[in-house]
Amino acid sequence: MTKVIQKVKAACFALNNTKNFLRKRERLCVYRSLVESHLRYGIIFWGPKVTKVEANTILKLQKRALRNVEIARYNSHTDPLFHKFRILKFNDLLRMEQIVWTYKSVMGIFPEHLTQPLLANLSTTNCNLRSQSTSTLPRNGRETQLLTSLKQTWNDIDESLRNTTSLDVLKWNLNSKFMSEYTKRCTAGPSCPVCKQDPALTPLGALEVSHETQTQID
Ligand SMILES: [Zn+2]
Repeated sequence: MTKVIQKVKAACFALNNTKNFLRKRERLCVYRSLVESHLRYGIIFWGPKVTKVEANTILKLQKRALRNVEIARYNSHTDPLFHKFRILKFNDLLRMEQIVWTYKSVMGIFPEHLTQPLLANLSTTNCNLRSQSTSTLPRNGRETQLLTSLKQTWNDIDESLRNTTSLDVLKWNLNSKFMSEYTKRCTAGPSCPVCKQDPALTPLGALEVSHETQTQID
């Protein structure tokens, strides 16, 4: 866990150093390849074990990195940046990966050797797993924290999402759902001390990222 945080910290440092010679789009690439890739890698295994303090540390690092991508002030609002660059916050990234993983398992998209023995636990009976995609997953008596977390996340999402017929549509809908939870602009009103300092940096400007970048989830 500390290794991931260290890697992300190093990436933030690198991003800070590229501010002067890389364009915004390139800095966003650096974010995706140095920050997000480390966060994504194996997240369904280590993510559920992350403490609240650690999750908060990671989120703060993500915010710092995005401010460096945007070259925004150290205290500027970051929700508009997460929204603008279509970047998921750590907790949402974890949920996204867990849901996608469970969906792939339930729908039999993964090769069997990858999903065993987890898959055996996802099904309590011998019934057809494919028919389970619409239902919530029952808990077993002695299951791991990882499995409990996977099931919990899966069961918490809307049934309409569990019913999605295609993985791409599921990813798209999840991404839209998470993005809709990030405020696009300051909600503190005209007297917000942060926006008063530098109003040019806070409103959500024109999107500079390409469609490919925006829709890319993996
Ligand atoms: Zn503000």
